[in-house]
Amino acid sequence: MEKNIAVIRGDGIGPEIVDEALKVLDKIGELYGHKFVCTDVDMGGCSIDKWGSPLTEEMLKKCVESDSVLLGAVGGDKWNHLPVDKRPEKGLLNLRAGMGVYSNNRPAKIWSQLADASPLKKSIVDKGIDFIIVRELIGGIYFGEHSTADDGNIKFSEDIMRYNENEIERIGRIGFETARKRRKQLCSVEKSNVLDCSRLWKNVMHRLAGEYPDVKLTDMLVDNCAMQIVKNPAQFDVIVTENMFGDILSDEASMITGSIGMIPSSSLGNTQCGLYEPIHGSAPDIAGKDIANPIGTILSAAMMLRYSFDMEKEADCIENAVDGVLDGGYRTSDIMPDGGEGLKQVGCSEMGSLITKYLKRND
Ligand code: NAD
Repeated sequence: MEKNIAVIRGDGIGPEIVDEALKVLDKIGELYGHKFVCTDVDMGGCSIDKWGSPLTEEMLKKCVESDSVLLGAVGGDKWNHLPVDKRPEKGLLNLRAGMGVYSNNRPAKIWSQLADASPLKKSIVDKGIDFIIVRELIGGIYFGEHSTADDGNIKFSEDIMRYNENEIERIGRIGFETARKRRKQLCSVEKSNVLDCSRLWKNVMHRLAGEYPDVKLTDMLVDNCAMQIVKNPAQFDVIVTENMFGDILSDEASMITGSIGMIPSSSLGNTQCGLYEPIHGSAPDIAGKDIANPIGTILSAAMMLRYSFDMEKEADCIENAVDGVLDGGYRTSDIMPDGGEGLKQVGCSEMGSLITKYLKRND
């Protein structure tokens, strides 16, 4: 198979971590007979320096016309004095809008080798943590009207939460499709005991369930879900929820797994073309030192293979290689415990090379 990937290295540690993911993709291509054709795209601070804009029309076009986009990270102190709509992060917002991605998908997975990094009790972690939060990205209260007024006595504010059935249906489908590629359990999270938007949400999810008889749908109120994520995270496979609930729950979920450098993400819309990136930023404090953890980006590439290219075995192959390298005792500094007896600290480039070396076809 041949796939075109738009590659955005971005700023800070972006170029270092993306190069390691590309090493891994090259080797996957070799092992499975695929050709990944990469096109460089400038976005963020480097694009401001080069083209005077965080994302030019021409660069956006390259992304939209690709089969998927792999992104490192953007941003840094150098560009913080610029007005908000000229900053590197504006490139990312324009990219999401231009690609029409409305769903953000973040796995919360604990690697058994890193279990000690979780703030949860060992007895909870030992049951396993491996779920994905599918969050609606461009609707709900963050995108409704916001206003503040003063009636002469007191100031008041309002923020409107609005969803229509179509917006709920399209994110619901991503939830069901994601569950289909995993353990086939979908938990729909809302606040239907209080909010009309949530009652509509629940109705649409139950209507869709008829089309996905292989997926088991359950409902959960968001306040209970926040508790269950720390009490019994092993119960979850895929959680689907609206924008604000997803924003809060996905940060909670990433905390319980330990390290920010390990977590990938995808953003999807109506086409197979997705945006894949680690959840962390450009980490200017460690840029250029060859100490960043490239695993979040490498696992983002694995998500791209699974969710955009239907390359299930190839994605498994990358995840198994990460598992093997962690089993081998190799750690970047962010996941190296104090003392770290029997473990070996490696840099960003060596971690990428090790994962590449551990890639093995099992079929
Ligand atoms: P950050 O995620 O870049 O860094 C937070 C902390 O985590 C830092 O100590 C950093 O060294 C560490 N860290 C992050 N990724 C790591 C990795 N792969 N390996 C090891 N350690 C890692 O967040 P920040 O410092 O708040 O933001 C820095 C810049 O990144 C800002 O300009 C911000 O706007 C931007 N940002 C970009 C994105 C994106 O491109 N999607 C997301 C968040 C922040």
